[in-house]
Amino acid sequence: MRKYVIMGVQGSGKGTQSALLCGDLDLVHISVGDLFRWHVKNHTKLGAQVRRAMTAGHLVGDDLVESVVRGRLDGHDWNYGFVVDGFPRNGRQAEFFMESYDIDAVIHLELPDDEVRRRVLSRRLCPECGMDYNLIADRPQVDGRCDICGHELITRADDTPEALDARLRDYHEKTRPVLELFRRKEVVHDVDARPGADDVQAAIRKTLGLPSYSPVP
Ligand code: AMP
Repeated sequence: MRKYVIMGVQGSGKGTQSALLCGDLDLVHISVGDLFRWHVKNHTKLGAQVRRAMTAGHLVGDDLVESVVRGRLDGHDWNYGFVVDGFPRNGRQAEFFMESYDIDAVIHLELPDDEVRRRVLSRRLCPECGMDYNLIADRPQVDGRCDICGHELITRADDTPEALDARLRDYHEKTRPVLELFRRKEVVHDVDARPGADDVQAAIRKTLGLPSYSPVP
């Protein structure tokens, strides 16, 4: 059983790296942001509660986040383990998490803020199938269209310069202290997130002592 948390500032590649890690190791990727986006897209009651905070780039209230994470983890479709992405993001969430689940490692993707701005503001998303693109490093084959399902690509509502500034502030003020808390437990593995996705994945696997990663040609 492998239980990991992946942390890093917005645009550091948490979603991409989690997906690469989960694929052949049969881990379940639990992305709190993706769960919320699903609820907003499908107009659920929860979606209505989180939409405003998400659009402004603010954190959603802890009670709501904790119940969503607990609900997902208690679903138990993670026989081989999980990668939690986007949680915990503040001291209270970290305490809740550490009381309820032991984790084997925290993967910390390190990326300077100017590179974050460059990456996030060029990010595009397919609202239909969830595929992520980047106009710098990972362009779609046809401009503005998803390679997988052909749907028109959008910019995430929280990928504006104003919302990004709010999220960066939150990250430095609230999320960095969480990392320090995990550091005291000696579970943090720092990984440079600047290289390409395959190289970052190889570095993650090396530091965690996992079987090596074979990129799909
Ligand atoms: P992400 O995709 O991880 O950047 O998350 C998108 C948005 O979902 C964030 O900007 C927050 O509004 C909300 N969110 C995701 N995870 C959390 C969390 N752990 N605590 C509070 N809000 C969250």
